[in-house]
Amino acid sequence: MRIILIGPPGAGKGTQCQRLSGLLRVPHLSTGEMLRAAVRAGTPEGLEAARFMQAGQLVPDPLIVGMVSGRLMAPDCRDGCLLDGFPRTVPQAETLDDMLERRAISVDGVIELAVPRDELVRRMLARKRADDDPEIFSRRIMSFEEQTAPLLEYYGRQGKLASIDGLGTADEIFERIRVSIDRFRRRARIRG
Ligand code: ADP
Repeated sequence: MRIILIGPPGAGKGTQCQRLSGLLRVPHLSTGEMLRAAVRAGTPEGLEAARFMQAGQLVPDPLIVGMVSGRLMAPDCRDGCLLDGFPRTVPQAETLDDMLERRAISVDGVIELAVPRDELVRRMLARKRADDDPEIFSRRIMSFEEQTAPLLEYYGRQGKLASIDGLGTADEIFERIRVSIDRFRRRARIRG
């Protein structure tokens, strides 16, 4: 299965993706992790991306698309993958649809982890990552609301969106995700 997880910074995508990757037995592709690895390694992409990440902005689409497309075509993604942090803009989603369509495959379902803003800020203060400075964090939330939230409508129109409550224990949230996955599976079977 090919599943996308969408949620604002601090929604808990990383934690849930790790578990979900085990359940679905497909690789977890996190663009945030890939970018942080590129920054650590000091590659040209990493150096370019760092400027945007430190400012709480999205990195340019071509950079991210180049990085993900190679990874998506790798043999371990043949039976599916779990996308975390990509797509993050409507143009990225359109590019992804094109890439998959060329191989006669598609996204099976999109899960939105919905978490209110005050809870996101509370979690950020408790976790502390380099780009988790309060001011930068609020810029990342803004970029989510302006650039990523429109994706919910995009996938809603395709009938692929499941929005779930991101408040509760990690176990409770995972259970909600599992229910959505079952629904995606049934739908995929009907489509045949
Ligand atoms: P979070 O979801 O907590 O904001 P991520 O680890 O997913 O964090 O991403 C960290 C940063 O990496 C983002 O703030 C952004 O600058 C960059 N980034 C990750 N994925 C993308 C993407 N698909 N397009 C543009 N920038 C991205």
